[in-house]
Amino acid sequence: MNGPFRMKPRILIAEDEEALATLLRYNLEKAGYDVETVGRGDDADLRLKEQLPDLAILDWMLPGFSGIELTRRLRARPETASLPIIILTARGEEAERVRGLSTGADDYVVKPFLVPELIARVQALLRRAKPEHVASSLKAGELEIDREKKRVSRAGRDIDLGPTEYRLLEFLMMSPGRVFSREQLLDGIWGRDVYIDERTVDVHVGRLRKALTRGREADPIRTVRGAGYAFNERFAERAEN
Ligand code: CA
Repeated sequence: MNGPFRMKPRILIAEDEEALATLLRYNLEKAGYDVETVGRGDDADLRLKEQLPDLAILDWMLPGFSGIELTRRLRARPETASLPIIILTARGEEAERVRGLSTGADDYVVKPFLVPELIARVQALLRRAKPEHVASSLKAGELEIDREKKRVSRAGRDIDLGPTEYRLLEFLMMSPGRVFSREQLLDGIWGRDVYIDERTVDVHVGRLRKALTRGREADPIRTVRGAGYAFNERFAERAEN
C-alpha cells in the first residue's frame, strides 16, 4: 500500500513534558508517521500556520496557550477547521471537564495512557479523515482483512462479520500479541462516551471466534485470564506451518 510516491502522514505534537514528547515521537515514527514536536501552544500555532500536518496531538496544559485555546483558534480558521485533533489531558477533574466541554477536538486521551492506545486512536482518526493514510489490508497467515471493502477472509473463504466484530478483529490485529483489557477494548472500539458493560466485550469476542474458526482451525484470538484478549502473534506462523 505504501508505494514510493506516498508521503508519510505528518503529525504535530504540542507537549511540554519533554520525556513524553520524545516517547510519542519515537513510537509514532516507528508506526510510520512523520512527527514534529513543539513545547508551547503559541509555537504550535505558528507551526500550524506554516505547514499543515495531517493530525495534531495537543496537550491541554501548555505554556503559551492551552491545547483547548489552540483548538478553538484552529477551528476558527478555514485551513484547519477540519484538522484531526487529539487532546491529551491529566486524569481526574480535568478529564471530566473535557468530557463536558465541546472543545472542537475529535478525540481526547487521558494521561497516563498506553502508547499503543494512542496510536490506535491516531489511526482511527486518520482513517476517518483520510482513508488513504491507513494500510488497505491486514494479514496474519491465512487470515486477511481488506480494509477498503471491509471484508474478512480466511484461507480464501469469505467471513461474514457484524460491524462490531469487524472493528474488534481489526483493532486486535493491528497490535498482534498485545493484550488489551476489556476496558481498553471498550474505549478503542465503542469509544469512551458510551457506557457498555464489560461483559459485552466477551459476547462479541465469542461471536468473532465462532465466525473465524471452522472445525479444528486454530483460534486467532487468545484469552488471557484476568487480563483480557490479544490477537495471537503465533497465529501467522502456525497457520503457515
Ligand atoms: Ca503539559
